[in-house]
Amino acid sequence: MPTNRTFTIIKPDAVLDGFTGSMIQQIEDAGFRIVAIKKIKLSPEEAGRFYAVHAARPFFQSLCDHMSSNHIIPMVLEKENAVEDFRTLIGATNPEQAAEGTVRKRFARSIESNAIHGSDSDENAAIESAFFFTDRELNP
Ligand code: GDP
Repeated sequence: MPTNRTFTIIKPDAVLDGFTGSMIQQIEDAGFRIVAIKKIKLSPEEAGRFYAVHAARPFFQSLCDHMSSNHIIPMVLEKENAVEDFRTLIGATNPEQAAEGTVRKRFARSIESNAIHGSDSDENAAIESAFFFTDRELNP
């Protein structure tokens, strides 16, 4: 059943580049409401657990190193059709292929340092939200 929630992370590159405010503005302007938000730094081991599904990919170690290199901003967002609409808002994984005006087109550095994460299903949104937030934080 669709939950109308999705999960996102502003990645270390975008936090370091000073894009947090502009990215949240774009997200809110697109109709998403912030349910939960925090700023934290993952250990490489935690990044590995978050991205475990990619463990066999050649870029896995590099991805985990990047995601644990500095602070990130995980958020849970609410909107009708949240997962699909948010994936459209952020654009393609590779910013060179992302549509004009999308978050990744505007703020990403590269295919790896691509500014933002967005869950790809309702199921993964719930799993990823629970990775970072308690039940109490998710049901304020
Ligand atoms: P997403 O759903 O658009 O985030 O893309 P994926 O789930 O396929 O990949 C997860 C993350 O791994 C991406 O957001 C990128 O940060 C990184 N990534 C994906 N493909 C590549 C690649 O070909 N090379 C590198 N270095 N990183 C990649």
